[in-house]
Amino acid sequence: MDFEDTPEEAAFRQEVRAFLEAHATLRTGTDADWSRGNVATDPDQQAEYVRRCQEWQRTLYDHGWAGLAWPKAFGGAGRSPAHQIIFNQELAVFDATSGFIGAAQQLVGPPLMRHGSREQQARYLGPLLRGDEGWCQLFSEPGAGSDLACLATRAVADGDEWVVNGQKVWTSAAQHADFGILLARTDPDAPKHKGITFFIVDMRSPGIEIRPLVQATGLTHFNEVFLTDVRIPAANVVGEVGEGWTVARTVLASEAGMIGGAGQSSTFDAVLALARECERTADPLIRQRLADVYIRERIIKFLGYRMQTAIMHKRGTPPDPSVLKNFFTTTLSRRVELAVELEGAGGMLAGSDAPQDGFWQQQVMAQFSSRIGGGTNEVHKNMIGERALGLPAEPRADKDVPWRDLPRS
Ligand SMILES: Cc1cc2nc3c(=O)[nH]c(=O)nc-3n(C[C@H](O)[C@H](O)[C@H](O)COP(=O)(O)OP(=O)(O)OC[C@H]3O[C@@H](n4cnc5c(N)ncnc54)[C@H](O)[C@@H]3O)c2cc1C
Repeated sequence: MDFEDTPEEAAFRQEVRAFLEAHATLRTGTDADWSRGNVATDPDQQAEYVRRCQEWQRTLYDHGWAGLAWPKAFGGAGRSPAHQIIFNQELAVFDATSGFIGAAQQLVGPPLMRHGSREQQARYLGPLLRGDEGWCQLFSEPGAGSDLACLATRAVADGDEWVVNGQKVWTSAAQHADFGILLARTDPDAPKHKGITFFIVDMRSPGIEIRPLVQATGLTHFNEVFLTDVRIPAANVVGEVGEGWTVARTVLASEAGMIGGAGQSSTFDAVLALARECERTADPLIRQRLADVYIRERIIKFLGYRMQTAIMHKRGTPPDPSVLKNFFTTTLSRRVELAVELEGAGGMLAGSDAPQDGFWQQQVMAQFSSRIGGGTNEVHKNMIGERALGLPAEPRADKDVPWRDLPRS
């Protein structure tokens, strides 16, 4: 692992820092930081958060920092993934984020660049990079989550259109999205991983009903989406008909890396500030737990450096994204649970009655979502076992059985 930048990396880092210093302020590690998460249940405050995310994305775009590692042909800056890592490392100390817009770019950009038609690339990638159009991911269903390939939403060809019927669930930001990436079954007689097709769907199409789901945090991060006789032009198929699983894998790989990569941003300072405010820093058990969180956040940072070294110098194997994802989510849990305990009796309150307007209480309730979204921790453990440790794969008796014959709930 290299801790020192090469001269080229150091020059690039300086350039990034100069840009960030000119356009953003440093994080304070307190609730004054707008970018530390959208915790407002009030619609006006939520809208303000979304507006600031869009504004930051536009600032990135206008100054040539959007799509840093995307090829120039697709409107990106044509830099390497290692440059993106350096950018993220520097950004982590600044009070700025593009929130779900950045996430949408990581989910939608790679499949369109790799598998999309020229027309699709020309139509969608530019507005995606500018943050002008919102996207959602219509993959999970009530009967298909970890075992996504079981999905039952049906698409039937009708002339030069497809007619789609089914239900999706846990669809993040569907209520704000202009378009969705959709997986639907086009051949029920093929085994479950075959016969799936990947579509782009206009979220304003007749027949789409979006029902927001209110979470324990009070936020409506995700939705149920019902599709009834929704018509999608054949030109909106991404890749080949029946080969949607290949396209979906591009999305899933990018998603796990994205959630693990979120670990670049440390919030240890915020927990330490809280411990000081609550006058708990002399307590030896609290000190131990603060040290534990600090050490874990450093390890996440060093895993990031290992990734950067492997990518930049093509030396060694980068850490598996599943390792990063699971380590990040377990660290997050330890950090937020410590924060609420630091607040003592006040930690039992919620909303504006609680310290910091209930920020840490919301984080405790929200911690489970990061352990589930983008593949559950258990599923990622399976992947670590199979890919990183070379253990025998899980038995997959249904792999070659036609989807139509599989038992389903
Ligand atoms: C915050 C958040 C945002 C999300 N956003 C989206 C989105 O935008 N679009 C979208 O399509 N989906 C989204 N999801 C859904 C997410 O991908 C699924 O929740 C996830 O894949 C798990 O599926 P499931 O909920 O059906 O649980 P299940 O698959 O039913 O799992 C239930 C339990 O069984 C365990 N389990 C299942 N299979 C195995 C196995 N083989 N080995 C060991 N344990 C196993 C799981 O770990 C889990 O504990 C989101 C979820 C969250 C929490």
